[in-house]
Amino acid sequence: MTPEFDLIARHFNRPVRQATLGVGDDCALFPWGQEQEVAVSTDTLVSGVHFFPDAEPEALGHKALAVNLSDLAAMGAAPRYVTLALTLPEVNHEWLAAFARGLHRLADRYGVELIGGDTTRGPLSMTLTVIGAVNGATTLRRDRAQEGDEIWVSGQLGGAALALAHLQGRARLAPEAFSQAASRLHKPEPRIGLGMGLLGVAHAAIDVSDGLVADLGHICERSDLAAVIDWSMLPIAPVLLDQPEALQQSCALAGGDDYELCFTAPESASGRIAALDTELGLALHRVGAMRAPREDEPRVTVRDANGGVLALPQAGFDHFSKGAD
Ligand code: ADP
Ligand code: MG
Repeated sequence: MTPEFDLIARHFNRPVRQATLGVGDDCALFPWGQEQEVAVSTDTLVSGVHFFPDAEPEALGHKALAVNLSDLAAMGAAPRYVTLALTLPEVNHEWLAAFARGLHRLADRYGVELIGGDTTRGPLSMTLTVIGAVNGATTLRRDRAQEGDEIWVSGQLGGAALALAHLQGRARLAPEAFSQAASRLHKPEPRIGLGMGLLGVAHAAIDVSDGLVADLGHICERSDLAAVIDWSMLPIAPVLLDQPEALQQSCALAGGDDYELCFTAPESASGRIAALDTELGLALHRVGAMRAPREDEPRVTVRDANGGVLALPQAGFDHFSKGAD
């Protein structure tokens, strides 16, 4: 277990009595009425950790809400409300107006209402809590994958991590390629329509915020299964294809910030998934399958084009691992 998850498990993961689902999934769930469940999730962005201190405020307003909505998408929940706790080093109305514009524009697209929050002085950070509604019978959860399920990934992987690699001097991109990759990093699109469309179709889902291997690993642990995926079937962001293979692999397998959905579904659902692909105009890719765990094998195995096992790049981001910034 990574240090971040270890500390949560040791100090904060308590059994729930009234909620349907507590710590350990993309959202917590509690019942609402006969059939509905409420889904709740909180995410914080900290200056210097999640974004550069000079980040463009309008994109930041978008991203702060998008990463939270992405957790609702991963449960198949319909977004309803958001609260905003903002910590600011100073009052800069121009900055605030742009930040608010980015946030409200995305909120309006999904009919989300900002209903409260908190404002304090300190190092720049923002914590949003999103609230959504979902039909309890079909909620997508990390612990619902079944042996034999096919594994799917939406959109493209690795673009956001490549932009970050460029900004950190680990990769060199031409201006056009950088702007493509950077839009994935700065303006992620929460896959709300896909999450809701997968209700009753997929068994389990997670949003890819920390890297595919780490996030699919959470589905495996919670469902007590293992996953085998094929490198050649992964939807690698086209902008990554010119890069060295090692960078392609680290960005697509261990790079965070893409906010695509990874989900598992029975083979019999493939027709409905293909229909969703067309309906949403969002490419959905079958990348592997769930199987029973084996003692001598990791939870997630990636096969190369020859059927061999790919040595995995460093696992997903953890705030308290050595080297995390
Ligand atoms: P995600 O990447 O989907 O946002 P996280 O990796 O941040 O999820 O969190 C994993 C789980 O741990 C979630 O269910 C989250 O609600 C829970 N969690 C994280 N930090 C705390 C905390 N301080 N107290 C209680 N639960 C927490
Ligand atoms: Mg998540």
